[in-house]
Amino acid sequence: MVHFVGAGPGAKDLITLRGKSLIEEADVIIYAGSLVNPELLDYAKENCEIHDSSKLNLDEVIELIKAAENEGKTTIRLHTGDPCLYGAIREQMDILDDLGISYDSTPGVSSFCGAAAALNMEYTLPGVSQSVIITRMEGKTPVPAKESIEALASHGATMVFFLSSFDTKGLSERLIKSGISPKTPCAIVYKATWPQEKSFICTLETLYETAVKNDIHKTALIIVGEAVSQNGYDKSKLYAPDFTTEFRTGTDKNANSKQ
Ligand code: SAH
Repeated sequence: MVHFVGAGPGAKDLITLRGKSLIEEADVIIYAGSLVNPELLDYAKENCEIHDSSKLNLDEVIELIKAAENEGKTTIRLHTGDPCLYGAIREQMDILDDLGISYDSTPGVSSFCGAAAALNMEYTLPGVSQSVIITRMEGKTPVPAKESIEALASHGATMVFFLSSFDTKGLSERLIKSGISPKTPCAIVYKATWPQEKSFICTLETLYETAVKNDIHKTALIIVGEAVSQNGYDKSKLYAPDFTTEFRTGTDKNANSKQ
């Protein structure tokens, strides 16, 4: 059995209880050493076999899993954040399907949540933005044309850029060219929830210089949008005193309970 487990964004205590229990019971752990906090391996039992997948290719990962299966061992495939985002899990699962090896998934706290926590930020401020676009710049992996930065920027939603801090210059230039105001607030969050966490608030036109000045070119998220200012929003209807919900009666009996 293989368990795909989300390790969380960094801090050792931000893995789920389920993820921790699975690590404690695992015979083999294959962890993404480039981003997973190695302190999480402290939860593993003493004789657990541990491999860093940043030094392995897909075939080698599968060989390790096959060898473990042949011995009736349990393997944890430990991915950073939540495995459902940029986790390259589907390609592994498809091979496991072909091999008849069973697996399941345990979610983790994604780094975009860790970054919001670092900033004490709400991405979805009423009256400002009610959507979060999670995307990335092209790197070795292309991004479909219909999801280009220019196309996505036209929505004006809060945008969270993964895997993009290597080119903050290109990112800001493209966003500005696509019509977003150069004064749009941005945040850079480096190593969210790690002891080395750093965060910076800037604007689209100062994004590049902020990244350069602070030597940020990897392991960071770039957040772009008016929501970053955490200003100018409307109060939620959910907690408005006059509003009636399924769970409480408000002072205005005519206000409906639409979300
Ligand atoms: N599945 C992961 C994302 C893996 S892609 C998740 O849910 O978070 C790797 C990218 O995630 C990095 O290039 C960086 O942009 C971002 N990232 C991962 N951990 C991070 C952290 N602690 N702080 C800021 N960004 C992080």
